[in-house]
Amino acid sequence: MPAASPIQDTFGRSMRDLRISITDRCNFNCLYCLPENEEAANFYRKRADPGNAKPIKYSWKPKSHFLTYEEIIHITRLLAAGGIDKVRITGGEPLLRRNVERLIEGLAAIPGIADIALTTNGFLFPRHAEALRRAGLNRITISLDSLQPDSFRQITGRDGLELVHESLSLAHKLGYSPIKVNAVIIRGINDHELEDLAEFGREQNVAMRFIEFMPLDSKRSWQKEHVVTKREMLERLEKRFELIPKPGNNPAETAKRWTFADGTGEIGIIAPVSEPFCGNCNRIRLTADGNMRTCLFSLHEHDLKTALRDGATDDDLTQRLREIILTKEERHHIGEQDFVQPARTMSFIGG
Ligand code: SAM
Ligand code: SF4
Repeated sequence: MPAASPIQDTFGRSMRDLRISITDRCNFNCLYCLPENEEAANFYRKRADPGNAKPIKYSWKPKSHFLTYEEIIHITRLLAAGGIDKVRITGGEPLLRRNVERLIEGLAAIPGIADIALTTNGFLFPRHAEALRRAGLNRITISLDSLQPDSFRQITGRDGLELVHESLSLAHKLGYSPIKVNAVIIRGINDHELEDLAEFGREQNVAMRFIEFMPLDSKRSWQKEHVVTKREMLERLEKRFELIPKPGNNPAETAKRWTFADGTGEIGIIAPVSEPFCGNCNRIRLTADGNMRTCLFSLHEHDLKTALRDGATDDDLTQRLREIILTKEERHHIGEQDFVQPARTMSFIGG
């Protein structure tokens, strides 16, 4: 079969990176992300700690609302034929879905998919780490916003710090590489831990990723004043550490990276708010319920599930995917007067 032409948007950007959210449920309730009344948080909290459960008012969406692994693999195969070579599994908390390793295996078998990563809050990772590794996952990103148990609980709604530590040592033991740690830095919440998190990353031999707080939180409480900008983070980090910039070899990379002067460890800062990287964006997103999103901040989603289930041919679906990508926005408008926060928040879109 002749190779298909790369899938491009109207600004000439070729799509390479697919972010797949496999569930919008979560067992955490991070204050920068998830609806307070999120049904799943209650559900899982009730199981783990019946005394702490809030009433469940939510009626569960039927399983059929969400794409099956076969459907996800099908869409990914079509996109891989058009140049997608990198996939990240995310959510919600992806490890709440059963047998994620089956999905990893299916994705790893798609010709052209060279790189599969997974982002997790780490709570369930120790239970799945080995099976995921066997299935072909080698890149893992674990979220960790605080090294203090109380503050970790305040941010995430769970006592999960120990499990994150366990996840990191297990990831090393099983040979995951690279291991990244995401920390969203929010003024007045955890910004005082910036340097300690950097030190921790170095000691643990993981690549730290400090992320600017984005207006994708469910409480819509984001304000510019909460954002600790890349410049501010870097100024502070450089007071404590001697950092050497790492040359970027991929213009679409979201993080600007530094190494410590002795060449060990890595710090990256992801600055979508203060230094947007839209010009080189090569990412598209598939939501758990089968919609394509062309930007984290898209105000419109594109339904694929209906066509998929109505028996559309691969040619029809590919054509539809190409049309969707032609609508990819040139850039986001955070911080501008005309910025409108998307209706769906990060846990639904997939970070
Ligand atoms: N549940 C998994 C986790 O927390 O790692 C995966 C999904 S989560 C939405 C993916 C990443 O998005 C996490 O590292 C999280 O810290 C980040 N994130 C969530 N809300 C954010 C926000 N408002 N601004 C910046 N990053 C955010
Ligand atoms: Fe859940 Fe991840 Fe959102 Fe935290 S950031 S609430 S762990 S989806």
